[in-house]
Amino acid sequence: MSKGRFGAHGGQYVPETLMNAVTELEAAYEKYKDDPGFVSELTELLNGYANRPSPLYYAAKVTDDLGGAKVYLKREDMNFTGSHKINNVLGQVLLAKKMGKTRVIAETGAGQHGVATATAAALFGMECEVFMGRTDTERQALNVYKMRLLGAKVHAVDSGTATLKDAVSAAMREWVRRISDTHYVLGSVMGPHPFPTVVRDFQSVISREIKAQLYRKEGRLPDAVIACVGGGSNAMGAFYHFIGDKSVRLIGCEAAGRGADTFETAATITTGRPGIFHGMKSYFCQDDCGQIAPVYSISAGLDYPGIGPEHAWLYDTGRAEYVPVTDEEAVGAFEYLSGTEGIIPAIESAHALAYAMKIAPTMSKDKIIVVNISGRGDKDCAAIARYRGEELYD
Ligand SMILES: *Cc1c(COP(=O)(O)O)cnc(C)c1O
Repeated sequence: MSKGRFGAHGGQYVPETLMNAVTELEAAYEKYKDDPGFVSELTELLNGYANRPSPLYYAAKVTDDLGGAKVYLKREDMNFTGSHKINNVLGQVLLAKKMGKTRVIAETGAGQHGVATATAAALFGMECEVFMGRTDTERQALNVYKMRLLGAKVHAVDSGTATLKDAVSAAMREWVRRISDTHYVLGSVMGPHPFPTVVRDFQSVISREIKAQLYRKEGRLPDAVIACVGGGSNAMGAFYHFIGDKSVRLIGCEAAGRGADTFETAATITTGRPGIFHGMKSYFCQDDCGQIAPVYSISAGLDYPGIGPEHAWLYDTGRAEYVPVTDEEAVGAFEYLSGTEGIIPAIESAHALAYAMKIAPTMSKDKIIVVNISGRGDKDCAAIARYRGEELYD
């Protein structure tokens, strides 16, 4: 495949003014990605600061209750800052430091990526500004407070639907405006090359660990790996080292919102078509004229009208499957895991669990499913309570 392409997808569809920045990033990444000093510094940060490796937990109660395949949970919720986002952030902020940048910017949806970026910026002594849709600043007020506490400036974005896609657009505009001292820490496997590759590589630690951990526990590969898909970084991380293992089903769960057959959905593969947006060719939810459609999900982290280009390619080639999961199913799974295992998952991750709950009972007891629990659910408690008609103070 040519550089930065995943089949027909990917590429670098950016204005000329941004080409210098993406070219500079590409060169820096090529220089450092296999550099022993860089790799050992990053490993030290992941293990010593971010609490890796994350456990691969056998969910015995869930397995017994569902009565089919064995269910393992990859506990990315136990990483420092509470989600998989820190894996990518530590890699990119370290890279930015090597590049001589003194300032980082980021977009955020649920606030997890913003908090992770603000955390790393505090640790590295860098300036940090985070762009967040105003709707999301209201849904995730606690994370806004955390980012400010960590020393970041948070910009509420009012354009468009004032959610994740608008935050990405605002961050890209800011990067064009000031590229000399600034690195844009993109939070998912999307945007122009080299971001989809950079973010996937930094997140691939997830599948590297799953593979080794499951070999130790079961002496074999899983039969299925299931992860939720917003832009697709936790899923790409969980899938990556299994792509060559054809016996392993790779299943991405998209946010269907109120249903993939309604207009209140964010299920990109199910409802989208090929297009170009945010610097990449991929699948997008769009209208007949190619305008990006407003999308909806109860989960701010999955509320994005596109999907990373490598997922688009895994879909085109049939290597991975993508299924829609509704708000109602995800909320059910959120409550179910809390009640059975005492683990409160992020509402994003609950989308993956909901699908595991559907297929595990149809599989025999010698089969193994790994569900990536991309984050923890503390941030979602107020919103889920409200969904169930209860008002909390958060
Ligand atoms: C951001 C986020 C997601 C969605 O992003 P991906 O890039 O698709 O992984 C999923 N889960 C959690 C907990 C998140 O914070």
